[in-house]
Formats: sequence, C-alpha cells, structure tokens
Amino acid sequence: MSHFTSSFVAQLASVRVRFGVGIRRQVSEEVARLGCKRALVLSTPAQADAAMEMAQEIGDMAVGVFTRATMHTPMAVTEEAVAHALSVNADCLVAIGGGSTTGLGKAIALRTDLPQIVVPTTYAGSEATNILGQTENGEKTTLTDARVQPEVILYDPELVRTLPVELTVTSALNAMAHAAEGLYARDRNPISTLLAIEGLEAFAESLDQVVADPGNLEARARTLYGAWLCGTVLGQVGMALHHKLCHTLGGSFDLPHAETHAVILPHAIAFNARAAQRELQPIARIFGDPAPGKALHSFAKKLGAPMALKDLGLGERDLDRAAEIATSKPYWNPQKVTKDDIATLLAAAWKGDPPAF
Ligand code: NAD
Repeated sequence: MSHFTSSFVAQLASVRVRFGVGIRRQVSEEVARLGCKRALVLSTPAQADAAMEMAQEIGDMAVGVFTRATMHTPMAVTEEAVAHALSVNADCLVAIGGGSTTGLGKAIALRTDLPQIVVPTTYAGSEATNILGQTENGEKTTLTDARVQPEVILYDPELVRTLPVELTVTSALNAMAHAAEGLYARDRNPISTLLAIEGLEAFAESLDQVVADPGNLEARARTLYGAWLCGTVLGQVGMALHHKLCHTLGGSFDLPHAETHAVILPHAIAFNARAAQRELQPIARIFGDPAPGKALHSFAKKLGAPMALKDLGLGERDLDRAAEIATSKPYWNPQKVTKDDIATLLAAAWKGDPPAF
C-alpha cells in the first residue's frame, strides 16, 4: 500500500553518497571534487591505523591526522581538534569511524564551516544527519544545524568487516531504532516511511548472515545500506520515547550507547504499539510477529544482543531516578507517558524480561 498522505513536509538534505567495496580509495577524488587541497583526517585512538591509511590514500592533500575522537563529543576534545585544524590550515575534514568520530567532525564543522567527508565504520548513522550531540561537565546537549550535515559519505563494506560481532549487533539495533521511531514520528512523511521500512528490511535480511560469518561482504554491504537509510530517517524526523530513554540512561547513568539502544528498543516499541499499531505494522510483518515489540525482542535475542540493563551496569536502585528523569520534561510521544508506566517498562528492561506492555 502507498505511503501517500494528503499533507506533509519533507526536508531532504543535499548529500553525495557513494557506496561500494573499496570505495574509500576514491577519497582523493572526493577531496578534489569539493575544491579542497588540505584534508584533516579524524579517528578515535583505536582506529588510528585506519586514519593513517586514509591519510596515505589522500597523499599530498592530507595535512594532518587527529586521532583523539571520544564518545559523546566532549567540548575539550573539540577545542583541541579545532585548534589543530586551524594550525594546519585544513580546508576539509575526512572522518573515518563510528558516531564518535563523525561527531567530532561535525563539531569542528559547526565552528569552522569546513566541508566533511565521512567514511563510516559502524551503523550508528550520524553521518546522514544534521544533528550533533556534545558533552560538557558531564551534560549532553543536542543541536540541529545545517553546518554539521556532512557533504559526502563513502560507504565501504570492507570497513565494517572488522566490527566485532557484539558491536555489529548493538550498532545495528541502534540504527534500527531510528527507523522504528521514524515510523510513528509526528513529522513523518511518505519518504521517511519508505526509507524506514527499507532500512529495517535490509537489516532483517542480512544481520543473521553477518553474525554467522562476519567476513561476508555481501551481507555487510546490506547492513551498511540499512544504516544509511535508518540514519537518513533520523535526520528527517523527530524521535520519541525510545531515544529519550536512551539519552537519559547514557547521559545520567553513563550506560554504553549502542548496547542501551539494543536493550530498550523492544520495550519502547511495545509501549508505543498500543497507540501506533498501524504505523508499526511494517515491523510486525518484517520480523514475523503481530506484536512489534515482541517481534524485535525475539530478533534481538536470536542475534545474541544484550537484553538486560542490569548487565550494562545499571543498579536496581537507579530505576526510580531513571523513570523520574525520563518523564520530568514533557515531550511528544504517540502513547501517553507516565512515570509509573516508564518505571514498569524499565523494570522489565532491567531484568531482561519480554516487554511489559
Ligand atoms: P563509536 O564511534 O564510539 O565506536 C565504538 C568503538 O568501536 C570505538 O572504540 C571505535 O574506535 C570502534 N570501532 C568503530 N568501528 C570499528 C570497526 N569497523 N572495527 C573495529 N572497531 C571499530 O560508537 P558508535 O556507536 O558508532 O557511535 C556512538 C556515538 O555516536 C554516540 O556519541 C552517539 O550519541 C553518536 N550518534 C550520533 C548521531 C547523530 O545523528 N548525531 C546518531 C547516532 C549516534
């Protein structure tokens, strides 16, 4: 059935996307195409080797490598990186890595307006959005700004082959959460719905193959395709309860980003399915259970995803405070949010039980 609605707004970003095995080797072409000659390469410390290879690939047009990207984009690291970019007179950024490295590139771009080429190595999807989360004094704030939207994305399936299986699964569920919440977003449009469904299907078709054989390039390519589509949904429409809960658990309790998304997703979707049964029908169809939350719970369990917040380091006594923080400021959600209901949802997620709703 068509996803047409009689009235909608679709804001489509102008982004150049290249996809293919070995496509990262075309990076110099992309630097030149932007009219640039002085690229600064970014990565996390763990991916410094990949950054050095990227700099070699860029050759004379690479003027520096900054390898201190950190989860949740701390301001102090950004300030250091901006100073480095200015000192080498960089005219563009090449970020190779997951959401942490992409976040650093975006934070530099916000302050310098340098164009960005992103070469993703996880499924987080940040490369496809104009959203930036930054932390200072332990507080994470999120902004939306056209300057942070990367201009070019190079999706190379060879790069996700090294992603460990556990991180593959949690990162994929993180991506799928963007699409799942996109299905019922208040500001969704026919294109965001199409992208969300195709993104979820790409992961449903390929993730078990990647878990069975992490080196399967064809399956890896499909997961990366899913990540792009789901990330694009995140860049187009507003998120709701699921992202609010993950933001609370990551920001106030320091739980790990992708793992938290993996645990919460079935619970948040089950909670919202009561108010968005029709919108979430694609999840029921794709994952083979009439109850969308249960469908995602079974899918995650089959893949060996973490299922319980208690295993991520959250204490049982933190649950009440988490429910309090997650409901302290009103925000839009398809199902009415109350502190008692969120406490029930979190208790099931803490134990690793099937969704309570
Ligand atoms: P990450 O970038 O921190 O990567 C996790 C770890 O895996 C890092 O140590 C990294 O070096 C390593 N790694 C990455 N790719 C690898 C590979 N292919 N092989 C081996 N190791 C690899 O984590 P992430 O989950 O990609 O991103 C999380 C961050 O991104 C969070 O800060 C989150 O808030 C942000 N995020 C932002 C947006 C947005 O639109 N602004 C969207 C999604 C996520």
